[in-house]
Amino acid sequence: MRIAVAKEIEVCERRVALNPDTVARLVKQGLEVWVETGAGERSFFSDSAYEAAGAKIISDSATLWQQADILLKVSPPQERENGGSEVELLKEGAVLVSFLNPLGNPVVAQQLANRQITALSMEMIPRTTRAQSMDALSSQASLAGYKAVLIAAAALPKYFPMLTTAAGTIAPAKVFIMGAGVAGLQAIATARRLGAVVEAFDIRPAVKEEVQSLGAKFVEVKLEEETVAAGGYAKEISEASKQRTQEVVAEHVKNADVVITTAQVPGRQAPRLVTEEMVAQMKPGSVIVDLAAEQGGNCACTEPGKDIVWNGVTIIGPINLPSSMPVHASQLYSKNVTSLIQLLIKDKALQVDFADDIVDAACITHAGEIRNQRVRDALQ
Ligand code: NAD
Repeated sequence: MRIAVAKEIEVCERRVALNPDTVARLVKQGLEVWVETGAGERSFFSDSAYEAAGAKIISDSATLWQQADILLKVSPPQERENGGSEVELLKEGAVLVSFLNPLGNPVVAQQLANRQITALSMEMIPRTTRAQSMDALSSQASLAGYKAVLIAAAALPKYFPMLTTAAGTIAPAKVFIMGAGVAGLQAIATARRLGAVVEAFDIRPAVKEEVQSLGAKFVEVKLEEETVAAGGYAKEISEASKQRTQEVVAEHVKNADVVITTAQVPGRQAPRLVTEEMVAQMKPGSVIVDLAAEQGGNCACTEPGKDIVWNGVTIIGPINLPSSMPVHASQLYSKNVTSLIQLLIKDKALQVDFADDIVDAACITHAGEIRNQRVRDALQ
């Protein structure tokens, strides 16, 4: 059975689906691994490192796609420069493992179903204890949370830590993190390590203890409705609850030097947490980093992919932050995808077992069908 690693063609994508270490482990298992020429280049993994790990380097992209039994990628399949889509290159019945953004872009799921591809979406891995080693949303969100703080610290015209010097005392920066999921918790930890005073807010009350255990203060808003959906994700809240949370968080946004927003509701536009009025109240020189920029933004002033200055406040809307740390992002993603494909391989042969709850949840297309109801709904 042949596993192939494609070179990413999405311009912002520097990650690669397998690093040489994981290739070596798969080869040791008796599997054949093909890697496209230059696939690891932007992650600083050379073709020769893959070759030394036992991979075969393939220079012709079409050959690699057409002859793969399992094709591994990071970004969803793209349109190719010379026409046609990457999906069309896959042989019928092949397995594709990648981020596929099936709720945001369900058309790709339809194309994959039309080509009889068994597509496993890394976004659909359940957030369960057994699936933890495959949880690419978490591994990549953690990188984003870390990097968001570094970006904010670099843009802030102040120190982060408190300093007592002969030239006087410097007060620590005040950082407010909105959304305390995986990215938010890593952002709290990183800001604390840099010496900031940190506050955090989330509509899921269960995160209070985690926030406090990282040395941050939890900003609590008591809401009269259930805020947690199946799987522990946040729900979209009512207009009245949105109003209530905005009233409470406005004061914390106003006092912050740095606001980092990470709030998401799966399959929906990101919730709007920071209004124009709130930004107008912030001190000039303050910084907002909006990690939900690609999903519509948590801040009303965010422009995805841009750094703007609005009323003296710098608002940064980064895109694909994990890709800016491609060495570790690829290393962690490699572990996630290899753990997943172990579930698909029995005695060196491909066996897709829908009795396995992880395979069942992650597999969005098989035998010409879109298997996931939410993806089918998103297509309507
Ligand atoms: P996410 O990226 O979907 O959202 C980020 C955060 O935004 C979440 O904490 C969410 O509660 C918050 N949020 C949403 N709407 C908001 C609003 N209006 N105001 C403020 N905050 C808002 O979340 P995630 O980091 O992917 O985590 C989702 C869930 O999965 C969490 O319960 C997390 O603990 C859980 N999880 C479990 C495991 C595991 O058990 N293996 C692993 C990772 C995550």
